[in-house]
Amino acid sequence: MCGIVGFTGKQNAAPILLEGLKKLEYRGYDSAGIAVAQDGVISVSKVSGRIANLCEKTEDGKTLPGFSGIGHTRWATHGAPTDVNAHPHMSCDGRFSVVHNGIIENYMALREELTANGYTFSSQTDTEVIVHLIEMYYHGDFKEAVMRATSRLTGSYALGVLCADCPGKIIAVREASPLILGIGVGENFFASDVTALVAYTRNALYLDDGEFAELTSESITVYDCTGAVIHKPVSRITWSIEAAEKGGYEHFMLKEIMEQPCAVKTALAPRVHENHVQLDDFSYTAEELRSIRKIVITACGSAYYAGCAGKYAIEKLCHIPVDVQLASELRYGEPQIDSDTLLIVLSQSGETADTIAAMKECQSLGARTLAIVNVVGSTIAKLADHTLYTWAGPEIAVATTKGYTTQLSVLYLFAVYAAHTMELLPEQEYVRLIGELQSIPKKIQQVLDMNTALPQLAKKYNSGHSVFYIGRNTDYAVALEGALKMKEISYIHAEAYAAGELKHGTIALIDEGQSVIALCCNSRIAEKTMNNIVEVKARGAQVLALAVKGNRAVLAQADDVIYIPDLDPLFQAVVEIVPLQLLAYYVAKENGCDIDKPKNLAKSVTVE
Ligand code: GLU
Repeated sequence: MCGIVGFTGKQNAAPILLEGLKKLEYRGYDSAGIAVAQDGVISVSKVSGRIANLCEKTEDGKTLPGFSGIGHTRWATHGAPTDVNAHPHMSCDGRFSVVHNGIIENYMALREELTANGYTFSSQTDTEVIVHLIEMYYHGDFKEAVMRATSRLTGSYALGVLCADCPGKIIAVREASPLILGIGVGENFFASDVTALVAYTRNALYLDDGEFAELTSESITVYDCTGAVIHKPVSRITWSIEAAEKGGYEHFMLKEIMEQPCAVKTALAPRVHENHVQLDDFSYTAEELRSIRKIVITACGSAYYAGCAGKYAIEKLCHIPVDVQLASELRYGEPQIDSDTLLIVLSQSGETADTIAAMKECQSLGARTLAIVNVVGSTIAKLADHTLYTWAGPEIAVATTKGYTTQLSVLYLFAVYAAHTMELLPEQEYVRLIGELQSIPKKIQQVLDMNTALPQLAKKYNSGHSVFYIGRNTDYAVALEGALKMKEISYIHAEAYAAGELKHGTIALIDEGQSVIALCCNSRIAEKTMNNIVEVKARGAQVLALAVKGNRAVLAQADDVIYIPDLDPLFQAVVEIVPLQLLAYYVAKENGCDIDKPKNLAKSVTVE
């Protein structure tokens, strides 16, 4: 995720681009840049860090005069957040400049092809292939060159392109990343979302996937992917800037919950090629994988719970024991770790202090390390032997949602990849599991669409004092994260309990009216948990059950049931957590809590 913006008109573009980028900064903020065209020359200024650095560098845009330009605020996916990796990227001949939001999945192959054709790369980004492709296909027709270049791309991209030969013209393209055109008087705009536009115009055109547009100060022409002109209706923007930043949702947390189908798809899709999982530069051979005697997953908070859920898939598929340890405990323990251990380190920010310390401790004992983090170039990413980025985009709400589900998705990918490489999966099963993984984004979307009753259920189960979450196996792992969400944002005491352990303690606390959330999704073990529902009901609990669609038996036991779509139990947790995120959200809203900034909590815990 990142923010892109473009302007063409009769006043200097740079100050308008900078203002637009400030509004889009919540979409990405590791580096920023602008490019402006004037008198057949494109000038670029870009810098790592926040937009304020770019404002300072360009003296609020004064150093880049010119009436048309493009801008970018980055959240890196490929290549560290450095000055050279910041957008816009330039063609070798200096004729084209590109800003990009998204991921080019086939960039490696394109980079090789372009290098062989004599194009030189100055950044590590996936984006740079686009601008060289445009140069390669340019024979005097700007639009034609962009069309031909984009026809070579797979992945997601919203693009803004400048051409030094075409003063006052910008081209915008959309494929699976957001892009809106703003219609002004004698000036026109594009942006990733309306926040960057509303100060100038409230008339907008929404591009659909595969469409692109030519903007000049006087006109906007929209084309479909074949190059035929199409007419789009003008929409009126009614959102305030604040509402627009949150995508129209009341809180960032709700927006981020809703973004999960897309975020999980971004984490999975570029790594699954024609029924084959490829994990970026993590390419252990079968022998290297077989030499791993133990996997230790270490993390804090929700990332730790993602590890707890991922453990089941890795153990089942790879037949390697997995030990999930809290980083704050591991760092002061006596970890039994050596060079036969693979340490998997999970952290959204990549800067979690306890996790870094635990990682260093394990490295000193010889462990091999694989990091799963969201922030490119973060400390954990730098320390690790290999890193798999979650590509979730910035998460603004303190309580993680898409951070957790993308981490878990990457753990699943790892499990399938490693099992297949070690020849533990028959080909047919491998293909089936890949199909299951690919269905996850759609199934998360179904959960979001299906559970319209959650605000009402939140009222009923908002008992004020405490909530118990029970489940077994993968359901238990999800219960841990579900309970944490409830604690973090609603301040209600919530406890996850392995359902089989009820009789060994918690059942003593079950009284009349006690809220119990019973997770009965894992078909292997759901029946056992349904028996536990009967036990807590007998003591007066009110039970909200989570079950897989089609499980009618649970209706007879629980007071209320939330259904999720069917999925292989190995991967169910990533879908199952979603209604629990929503439940916590609605309870917190009901209780008037500060949902995006819960008291006493910070987004990234960089101290011990
Ligand atoms: N993939 C591009 C990069 O890493 C764009 C990232 C984004 O959309 O945030 O530079």
